[in-house]
Amino acid sequence: TGEMPTRKRVLLKVSGEALMGSGSYGVEQQTVERIAADVAEVVRSGWEVCLVVGGGNIFRGLAAAAKGMDRAQGDYAGMLATVINALLLQNALEREQLPTRVMSAIHMSSIAEPYIRRRAVRHMEKGRVVIFAAGTGNPFFTTDTAAALRAAEMECDVLLKGTQVDGVYSADPKRDPSAVRYEQLTYMDVLSKQLNVMDAAAISLARENRLPIIVFNIGEPGSFPRVMREEGPYTRII
Ligand code: UDP
Repeated sequence: TGEMPTRKRVLLKVSGEALMGSGSYGVEQQTVERIAADVAEVVRSGWEVCLVVGGGNIFRGLAAAAKGMDRAQGDYAGMLATVINALLLQNALEREQLPTRVMSAIHMSSIAEPYIRRRAVRHMEKGRVVIFAAGTGNPFFTTDTAAALRAAEMECDVLLKGTQVDGVYSADPKRDPSAVRYEQLTYMDVLSKQLNVMDAAAISLARENRLPIIVFNIGEPGSFPRVMREEGPYTRII
């Protein structure tokens, strides 16, 4: 197509829970602002950045289905939750003077652009931070899978998965003091050891597209820029 690959591109997956901060539901304003400041630092260091945001701080289809709700209907509600988070994140990014676009997989033309791959690529080339909302647009998927999918579509160099722990451990570090953090894992390790990092669909997609995944603690201020400078702690999955 004659496109010139110029800058390096990263997709950051922000879970809904990461936006709760110290709360247990919804969004903590100062946490969103802090994440936006971290994104701004990475953009200013020369990266093209796009985001996929989750919705687990508001609604999860699977949890609702466990209590008897229709799964697909719950999943659509969950996808709408991600749109709320996307709008809040967009606002915080704009306050950092970053040009942003929200692109939604479920069309909501009054508040977000429809997701169109080639248009998203164009936004990124122009240095805009693109927030992908509504996951994949399909029930029975997760925003982790959406993150792997969009990262592949955007031809990102790396996918960062921001969690509440600083990487992938051999056991739950909160319960087992002998748990150790892996520096590096293969996609197959994650699948065969059933390590609880991302769902299998997301890992498989990353593997097929040779997309490195870095798992890190997004709850730690400044961690996103640090990881982009290859400063740990984190776990790399290749
Ligand atoms: N969801 C979906 N399809 C997708 C992405 C998300 O149905 O492609 C729904 C699903 O119900 C999920 C909810 O949206 O529980 C919120 O997303 P997720 O649980 O991935 O958010 P996170 O855990 O990152 O906060």
